[in-house]
Amino acid sequence: MRAYYDADAPLDVLRGKTLGIIGYGNQGRAQALNLRDSGLSVVIGGLRDESTRQAETDGFEALPIAEAAERADVLALLIPDEVQRQVYDEVISKRLRAGQTLDFAHGYNIHFRLIVPPPGVDVIMVAPRMIGTMVRESFVEGKGAPAFVAVAQDVSGHALRTALALARGIGATRAGVLETTFAQETELDLFQEQGLWPLLVRTMLTAFECLVASGFPPEMVALEMYGSEEGAEIFREMARVGFFKQMRFHSQTSQYGTLSRAGQIPFQQEMRSFMERALAGIRDKSFADEWRREQEAGYPTFTKLREQADAHLMNLAEEEMRRLLRTRAG
Ligand code: NDP
Repeated sequence: MRAYYDADAPLDVLRGKTLGIIGYGNQGRAQALNLRDSGLSVVIGGLRDESTRQAETDGFEALPIAEAAERADVLALLIPDEVQRQVYDEVISKRLRAGQTLDFAHGYNIHFRLIVPPPGVDVIMVAPRMIGTMVRESFVEGKGAPAFVAVAQDVSGHALRTALALARGIGATRAGVLETTFAQETELDLFQEQGLWPLLVRTMLTAFECLVASGFPPEMVALEMYGSEEGAEIFREMARVGFFKQMRFHSQTSQYGTLSRAGQIPFQQEMRSFMERALAGIRDKSFADEWRREQEAGYPTFTKLREQADAHLMNLAEEEMRRLLRTRAG
């Protein structure tokens, strides 16, 4: 796989161009600020609300989405994935003209063909692998958040150069960006959410329930499991020194306990099957259909799932933990 850095990503393809950032939330604000600090010309497109007021306070020209779509040479759709289709259909699509570039920070809507841009525009993706605040903070520190870049439609013949220049403008090529496809970025992202995190979440809940039923105080369990941030530190060290190598920072008892028991888990095949089913549902679009139906119905299942999560004893346990202790997480 090839990584691209600053030297591979000249900004010249964006000089003299207007970048229209639609949405001024997590990614929108971070990317707009970084692009402006990189010397590029940015306007914000948004509803006349809190977000656009924030954009104006930050010194940007904030326009209605329709006007930003008309003014921009490169239009970045940085609003939630669930609303992109409607905003695109109702406001943006009829204003697009040949020669413009449409940029996404996630491949979902293009990959599942919920948005089908006209043939005359370039369609690219610059998808930071970090939340917006980190995209901004790392940029200010002189570093950058890595990103994936992809091209879905290359009418100009230089769509990848545009994507790389945008990645450079937000600081991503300081860390390095990897070229991928909309399909792969979308599938990987959804797999992480549906194949991996559910198992981690269920594992932690089961551990919590098991320990509390065995007589351990819930707040003590919450502190031990995640409240102290030891778990977060382990993930950070996995990225920094290595998945297994970070284990050396822990006692030999810990290393032996973890490595010996990981090999004894009796349901590895079931876990693998669960993951394969999740990936299959992503690939055959049944998840995307299910999620679209859920949105159209007004989120009945999602609302119930959130209520169940909010009612779990873990919430009370961590409140009590925070009341008792001043953890780094506050
Ligand atoms: P946010 O939820 O932070 O977006 C909020 C912005 O979208 C606000 O300006 C909000 O305006 C506007 N908005 C919300 N609903 C509408 C609507 N119906 N019409 C017009 N504007 C609307 O989005 P994210 O930054 O989280 O996500 C943007 C894109 O970036 C997505 O494609 C996401 O997958 C991707 N991404 C996000 C990451 C992250 O850090 N969260 C990481 C990597 C990629 P208002 O104030 O009116 O609500």
